[in-house]
Formats: sequence, structure tokens, C-alpha cells
Amino acid sequence: MQFLYTNWQITQYVRLHRCWIVHLMRKTIFKKLEAQRLIANYNRLRKNLPPKLPERVFIRDETFREGIKAPTVFLTYVEQVKLAKMMDETGVSIINVGFPALSEDDKHNVKRIVNETFEKAALTASAQATKSSVDACLECGVKEITIETPFNELNLQYRLKMTKEQALKKTVESVEYARKHGTTVDFLLMDGSRTPLDDILQIFEAAANAGASKLAIADTVGFLRPLSMRYLMAHVRDGLPETVKKKVALSVHCHNDFGLATANTLAAVEEGVTHLHTCIAGFGERAGIAPFEEVVAALELLYNIDTGVDLEKVYRLSQSAEKAFALPIQFHKPIIGENIFAHEVEEQLEEMLAHPLLFEPFPPEIVGRETRLFIGRNTGQTLIQRLLEQAGIRASPRQMDELFRHIKSPKESLDKGETQMTFYQVKRLLKDLQKGLTMEEFWRLVETITRQKPKLPETDKKPPASEYS
Ligand SMILES: [Zn+2]
Repeated sequence: MQFLYTNWQITQYVRLHRCWIVHLMRKTIFKKLEAQRLIANYNRLRKNLPPKLPERVFIRDETFREGIKAPTVFLTYVEQVKLAKMMDETGVSIINVGFPALSEDDKHNVKRIVNETFEKAALTASAQATKSSVDACLECGVKEITIETPFNELNLQYRLKMTKEQALKKTVESVEYARKHGTTVDFLLMDGSRTPLDDILQIFEAAANAGASKLAIADTVGFLRPLSMRYLMAHVRDGLPETVKKKVALSVHCHNDFGLATANTLAAVEEGVTHLHTCIAGFGERAGIAPFEEVVAALELLYNIDTGVDLEKVYRLSQSAEKAFALPIQFHKPIIGENIFAHEVEEQLEEMLAHPLLFEPFPPEIVGRETRLFIGRNTGQTLIQRLLEQAGIRASPRQMDELFRHIKSPKESLDKGETQMTFYQVKRLLKDLQKGLTMEEFWRLVETITRQKPKLPETDKKPPASEYS
């Protein structure tokens, strides 16, 4: 058993004047600490604030397009609408509601969600650079279409099986076609981070001249380093003709394969990029994409850039996403993880109460959380004795022993075994939720049903490792 203490001095005060005080706190907290000569803040040094930093950025959520690519994820329509409405309330600027050309079900869902009412958020849907894919979006009544295509040799040869000229032509035609039907068009260059700069500029210019108003680079396999991202975005920005620059906004979509999605997204902002793709809790294909809460909190608190997002609602949104996704958010996940603002008191309760920012980077109320203090197995005996004395309680040595037993022993034996069992059961259940069959399971099923041994085509076999080199 653990005893939970709330830092009531802070919470009571905050409860009284919640809204304005949290807002004020967010804007002034570090300045105040600096003015009091309590901390140094290198983030504020002019030298560390790149000249192209925008004052405002726009968050585009990819949860329904990207998040549901995580293998165990399936969202019902009701769950999707609930999350979308919460995103709207939280201040997400654009919500990608899916890829209608994928299936009739997807199209049906997109069509329904487009007819819901949203306060501020605009909706977009994704399409490939083909007429039929754009048509699927148009049928749903989407006002903003994101047309995506890759343009490097790897993709042209192995994915699109097209020449550069053909891919360029299809892009221009698709953008013009969507524009002709009165929609706004965003153009996303898949694998843009592994595409030669000249080619990026060529296809961006073509897409913009055909009517695209946002140009996005996707770091599709999470390949860039933050400094490389800055280089790339600076050169894209400076390389585009003035006429294009004036009418388009730049955007990034960063995958997290090396854990660099947030860093790369922020690096792009440092070069003036204003439209940022994120997913709640960083859900998505493989390692996911830039986590919404990390990007937003970093921009608001470390850069002082307006994201339009109400930080206080971020935690609540993440809780709903966790439930709908049935995918646990790791306990030490920045901003939204269970343990981020929880501290086991060892010897220094007074110090912790005296100034919580000794142990936390910012007051948790800013992101809709609160500091939680625990008495646990690492809490010193002297502190517990002192707490009892302060509370006017005199305990006999036997009572003290019993108290310590309750605090310390269950954690070391009983609880852990049970927790581990439950944990593995939950993991197994989550794996069972995984949709689809592995290739091995698929062929085994085919064999059972047809009673024929399949001769596997070459494409189902992985190329030898030497082919990658
Ligand atoms: Zn992606």
C-alpha cells in the first residue's frame, strides 16, 4: 500500500484561479526564476534563438491516418469522433481524417466525420497522386486534400515503377484536378528526407504552380539528424522561387525510428517551418511519428512559440487516445506518462514542498497534471518519525514496526509477482488483438483449406542481406 500526498498548497491556489493563473504561469515561470537569480535559462539567449523562428505554428494531427497503422489498433467510428472533437477543443489546427481510397469502409468513415461539426479545426484527407484516389476524397466532401507521392529513385523504381517525368506529370495533374473541384491542396513528398534537393525543389515548384498551398517533407523512415533537417529545410526554403515562397507554407512529417522525431520537428521549426504533423502519444507505424504532446510542450515552454493548443487539455486527450487505442502509454513518456510528476519521498519532503521546481522542469498544472508525492520503500525512517511527530501522533515501537511493514514489505514480495502476471496477461491480450495474419500463418491457412502446398513466389521471400549493401 502506498500513501498518496497531493501538493495541496499549489493545487488549492490553482483551483481558485485556474485558467488565468496557468496561462500566466506558462508565460512567466522561467523569467521569474531567472529574475530571482534561481536558475539560468540558456534557451532564452538570443544566440540560441534562430532568426527564422516563427511566432505561431499549426499542429496537424495524423492519428487517424498514421496512428491506426500501429499493428494492434482499430478505432470504432464513435471513438474516432470523440477523439477528433477533443482534438478540436484542445486546439489542433488540422485533423487528417484518413485515406478514403483505401477501402469502402474508410471512405464511409471519412464521409461521416466530414459531416460532423468542429469548432476550429479544419479537416483533411489523404490521397495518392491519382485521379481515383482524389475522387475518393471528393466523394467524401473533404475541403482539403493531401496528395502524396515519393520522388526518389528508390521509390520510382521499386514502388511507383515510373519515370521521374511520369511521377511529376501525375502529381501536377492530381493537384490541378483537386483544385478544379474547389478544394485546398497540401502536397506531401514521401521519403522527402532521402530525395536529392534539386528533385525536391522541382516537384515542390510544380505542385505549388499547380495550386498546392502547403508543401510537406516526410522523413518517412526517420532517417535525418536534427542538423541535417535544418540544412534541408533551409535549402528548400531558400531554393524555392519567390513567387512560390509567397503563396505556400512549409510542413514536416517526422518518423521516430531513431527517437529523433521531436528533435527533427523542432529543428524544422528553427528554419521557419510552420505546419507540423504529429500523433497523440507518438502512435503510428513502426516507432510512430512526432508525439503531439512533446512537440507542443517544447514549442510553448522552451521556445515560447504559440501553437494554438491548450496545454491543460493535452493529458486528458492522451488518456482518451490510450483507451481507444488499447495501447498503454509508457509510464516514463514525457509530458503524459504516469510517472512524470510522481516522486517517492526519501528524506527531503520539506525541500520538495518548499520549491517543487527543484525536481520538475515546470509546474505540472500547465499540462493538466499535478505533483504526486509517495511514501514508499525508499522513504527514510527518520522522515516518517518526523511526520508522525509533526502530526501529534505518538506511536509505540510495535505500531511503528507495523507501519513500516505495510509501507515496505508488500512491494518487495506480493505485489510484484501479481503485477508481473497481470502485465503479461495484458500483453498477450494486446497481441491477440493484432489484426491480420503473419505470412507464415497465411500460407498455413491456405494449405489447410486447399490441401495444396504453396509454391511461394519470389516476392514473398526477403532479399538476402547482401542486396541492401
Ligand atoms: Zn508517416
